[in-house]
Amino acid sequence: MEKGCLFCRILAKEISAKMVHEDDRAIAFEDINPQAPTHVLIVPRRHIAGLNDVGADDAALLGHLQLVAAQIAGKRGIAESGYRTVLNTGRGAGQSIFHLHLHLLGGRGLRWPPG
Ligand code: 5GP
Ligand code: ZN
Repeated sequence: MEKGCLFCRILAKEISAKMVHEDDRAIAFEDINPQAPTHVLIVPRRHIAGLNDVGADDAALLGHLQLVAAQIAGKRGIAESGYRTVLNTGRGAGQSIFHLHLHLLGGRGLRWPPG
């Protein structure tokens, strides 16, 4: 657990979140400021600041986050209509929480390219 990290505190249940999924490697919860009808954050249990901080050993974990996203999309009934998984890296790309997380967005039309 990283001191002062919001998502580590959610993982430790010090701060509440609306949980969607929990397993041994990751959790998923509703984003507090949803940008789409489905906006879920998939978060590894291990504190990793961002995609610049992963190594070859993390390949399976990164894949796992995507698989969890696809599973949640299926349960939400948005697998066919379409959804997007987004991993913001760095402030210039919109990363504001420096504990790696995958956004799952769907339930409405999503424009391309993203802003
Ligand atoms: P980022 O901008 O780092 O890619 O994404 C961080 C996300 O975390 C944002 O979409 C923001 O709304 C969400 N967020 C920030 N604080 C909280 C919180 O306390 N609880 C939850 N559930 N989401 C949060
Ligand atoms: Zn953390």
